[in-house]
Amino acid sequence: MRSLDLTRISPQDVRACQEIASEAGVDVKDCYQCGKCTAGCPLAEGMDLMPREVIRFLQLGAIDVVLDAKTPWICAQCDVCSSRCPQNVDICSVMRAVRQASKRAGKRPVPEADIFDDEFIANVRAHGVSNEQYLAAAFNVKSGHLMQDADNAVRMLTRGMVGVTMHNIEGRAEVAALIDRALAADAARHAARETEGGEA
Ligand code: SF4
Ligand code: SF4
Repeated sequence: MRSLDLTRISPQDVRACQEIASEAGVDVKDCYQCGKCTAGCPLAEGMDLMPREVIRFLQLGAIDVVLDAKTPWICAQCDVCSSRCPQNVDICSVMRAVRQASKRAGKRPVPEADIFDDEFIANVRAHGVSNEQYLAAAFNVKSGHLMQDADNAVRMLTRGMVGVTMHNIEGRAEVAALIDRALAADAARHAARETEGGEA
């Protein structure tokens, strides 16, 4: 675990970490650092902070370390960590909340993950379903990885696994309305939190 100068942690940093935990519905004090979450994580090898460390830095109020971490952006939301935790800490939700906070702070430590998320939501919002061939193409253009998976795309097209037809479901307007409602509720919740924080 990296070293940390605790004297640099401000009350605002501690509050920002508490807000992330509360967004995830977690009390990080429940974690006693046993490491079972990390031991079960299928993606730990590619992470810069282990899941256990993300919780530890939140406990310490080290908001910058947490928001700059690639780990929450690499996390596949598989839920293994949460299901293994003897203290019922929902680490999976913490990863999601850190990722949202990191994005709000304009950080995006793994820009590709952010681009993929945005493209996926835009795709589902427009068509009611993900048209994966177009999602992949939009991701490649926006991420600058123009030829990523090009070989696979040709193979999938020639075998008829994907086509060029854009699929739209009948209820796509309802899907778009649901997504808009969720995004608006999220924005309103954060605006209310910021107002509360400013008044505190
Ligand atoms: S499994 Fe639970 S208690 Fe153990 S380190 Fe992970 S979050 Fe903490
Ligand atoms: S939810 Fe994320 S952190 Fe937890 S085990 Fe899965 S990939 Fe690892």
